[in-house]
Amino acid sequence: MQSPLTVDLVSDTATRPTPEMFAAMAAAPVGDEQRGEDPTTTALCARVAEMLGMEAAVLMPSGTMCNLVALAVHCRPGDEVVCAANAHIFGSEAAGVAAVAGAQFRTVETQTGVFSADAAEALLRPRKPRSPRSRVIAVEQTSNRGGGTIWPVEVLSDLVTLARREGLILHMDGARLMNAAVSAGMPPSAFTQGFDSAWLDLSKGLGCPVGGVLAGSRAFVEEAWVWKHRLGGSMRQSGVLAAAGLHALDHHVADLAGDHANACLLAKRLSTVPGIALFPARPATNILFIDVAGTGIPAARVAERLRTAGVRVGVEDTHTLRAVTHRDLGRALIEHAADAFAAAVENASR
Ligand SMILES: *Cc1c(COP(=O)(O)O)cnc(C)c1O
Repeated sequence: MQSPLTVDLVSDTATRPTPEMFAAMAAAPVGDEQRGEDPTTTALCARVAEMLGMEAAVLMPSGTMCNLVALAVHCRPGDEVVCAANAHIFGSEAAGVAAVAGAQFRTVETQTGVFSADAAEALLRPRKPRSPRSRVIAVEQTSNRGGGTIWPVEVLSDLVTLARREGLILHMDGARLMNAAVSAGMPPSAFTQGFDSAWLDLSKGLGCPVGGVLAGSRAFVEEAWVWKHRLGGSMRQSGVLAAAGLHALDHHVADLAGDHANACLLAKRLSTVPGIALFPARPATNILFIDVAGTGIPAARVAERLRTAGVRVGVEDTHTLRAVTHRDLGRALIEHAADAFAAAVENASR
């Protein structure tokens, strides 16, 4: 028999709006976003642009649309985008960049999701008629499949130097940029410095129901608006969503530190379970990969066992699970999940 689900570690998208967030949404002044007449959306975009050190920003229904619109603006068909092989934009967005923008990816193999300017430079194409045109370098802050690894500012600034020298565009998928900022104790603009476009997701650890905000130069955002509309992403009274975003930026950002502490706690507890290997050993943010190969039990089977104990985790492949901590999970639930893990592995091995 399945116990009612209590601990959802599949993703930080599991976060639900709080009563206070709902109240802010209900009280929001609204208008027609498409006409630029929604004051709450305008306020959110100005706020995020400032946070990211950019001139302007635009609200999107999802992070996926932020990535797609940004690359549609940056690329012409046949252009090439350098990114990590485990990047969300490459493997988890239905090949939107290829299908819609006509660009292709050239990828760097990297477990952490982070790569050096030298690694990026090695993948740039010669300027020849027969070569794809190297156009964009895309980074993911934090790296999702890289176990929530933070791109250090020095590595990013080397990329900025390379991009300026080679005439390339820099894009940041900042789905968890605020996790990086809180963990590193730096403003988000420290990471986006020199980037042409960057966005942050409202619907992940920040706890909003919907939305991402894409920022860049005024000219970039003007073009982004065309693509937003073209893809059906222009909204009407989007202020109800923007109000959730403003509420989250006011009240939820500091709480990300708690998610990071919980990921560390989970890692620490699981590190004592025989047969389990962790990546990273000590999470910098809120994502933990759990390799159960050493237990001899398939990951899907472990996940099934956990489910009966009310714990949900993501199954990455035959021997790897993913756990993501978030604001709807307190310390006690994390302890419960760790206990359930130990039991699942132990019981199943009998
Ligand atoms: C979730 C995620 C996205 C896409 O965001 P959605 O709001 O789910 O569309 C993009 N990049 C990364 C790294 C993500 O984790």
